[in-house]
Formats: sequence, C-alpha cells, structure tokens
Amino acid sequence: MEIAREVKAAGAGFLRGGAFKPRSSPYSFQGLKEEGLELLKLARTVTGLPIVSEIMSVSMLDRFVAEVDVIQIGARNMQNFDLLKAVGQTRKPVLLKRGMSATIEEFLMSAEYILAEGNENVILCERGIRTFETYTRNTLDLSAVLAIKRLSHLPVLVDPSHAAGLAWMVESLSKAAVAVGADGLIIEVHNDPANARCDGPQSITPERFEALMHSLRAIAQCENRVV
Ligand code: PEP
Ligand code: MN
Repeated sequence: MEIAREVKAAGAGFLRGGAFKPRSSPYSFQGLKEEGLELLKLARTVTGLPIVSEIMSVSMLDRFVAEVDVIQIGARNMQNFDLLKAVGQTRKPVLLKRGMSATIEEFLMSAEYILAEGNENVILCERGIRTFETYTRNTLDLSAVLAIKRLSHLPVLVDPSHAAGLAWMVESLSKAAVAVGADGLIIEVHNDPANARCDGPQSITPERFEALMHSLRAIAQCENRVV
C-alpha cells in the first residue's frame, strides 16, 4: 500500500504486481496468489491506480477478467497459445511480454493470436532477451522497440528491471527506452529492496522512482512527447 501510494504520487499510471509468479525454481516464492490479488485490489481502491497482474493459467481467466484492469502474459507464457487464444476472446487489455528467446517475428505472431480472436487491446513489452552475456539478467533489446514500431501499430513498453536485473542500471535504461520511443515503462519499485520477497536486486526505491520520473519528463519533452 505504501509503495502504491508513493508511485502514484510520483506519477505512475498503473500499479503492476505479480500475485501468481512464474519462478524458475519450484522452491522459490510463488507469489501471494489470491491474497496477492486482494491486496492489489485494495491498493487500487486506495490510490485509484488501475492494476496489472500476470495470469498463468486459463483456469484463472474469469477471475482475472473480473478483477484486474490489464492482464499480463509473462515471458514464459508468450507462446502458450491456448492462453493467448483465451485472452483473445475477452476484451480485456493484455500486456504481452516478449519471450526470453523469442524473435521479434515470433513476438508479433503471439500478439496476432490475441488479435485474431478479436481482442485488439494488446500492449507489447520488451523485457530483455537471453544472450551469451551473464553480467545482466537479460540483454535489453532496445532496437526491438524500433522494429516493432515499424512493423506494428501496437504500443510497446520497456521493462528495464527484468531486463537488467540490477537496480543501479534501471534509471539509465529507462531514459534510453524513452529516448528510443517506448510508449511506457514497467519499473519495479520496492520500499525495502533488501527484504523483498522476490526481485529485490532489480527494484528501485520510491525516492529513486520519483527522481527518475522527473528526468523522464525532460527526456520525453526533447522527443515532443509527454510522460
Ligand atoms: C514479471 O513481470 O514479474 C515477470 C516474471 O517478468 P517476465 O515474464 O518478463 O520474466
Ligand atoms: Mn518480477
């Protein structure tokens, strides 16, 4: 609730949080699940921010349609075609993240699965791809933003947090994303990153988030855009 209030005050437009978390290890924290969704809804009530959360299974679709404002499909499910078709049959906005080894064409074809079912409310998200580099969690592919803008009419966001996996890189990568023409950013924010249940190392504090928003407004202005 505290984080929600602070990001809202700094100018965030949405609150994104994973209640059901796709973790590489079955022994890692799997999310607060239903309780997490309830907390997100509470944060929405308190702040007025629309909420975004990740769906992992078609069996949860009715609940997500009823309760969240934007349904996220994560990198690991980018080619879960049954899930894509199912969200395609709704009219809910879908935030589709690029698979960790997906080409731009594969990414756009996954979006097409949703569009072909009649749901035109698709938002794409570049979140870094797997390369030979191990210093960062993934390699942020900013050229994908340009390619997608040329090939598609869909809005494209950048998630520098999951891309770099390193909080200290997030601010600079966010600025670069705005400069390259991204339509939005997903930034992981935590008030106590050292004790976050997951993804603490890539989370920036609300104070840093607020400072970043100021810089982003200036960069957007150079490009004749607004944050
Ligand atoms: C997330 O957004 O919390 C997440 C798990 O990201 P990705 O699907 O991009 O790995
Ligand atoms: Mn995460």
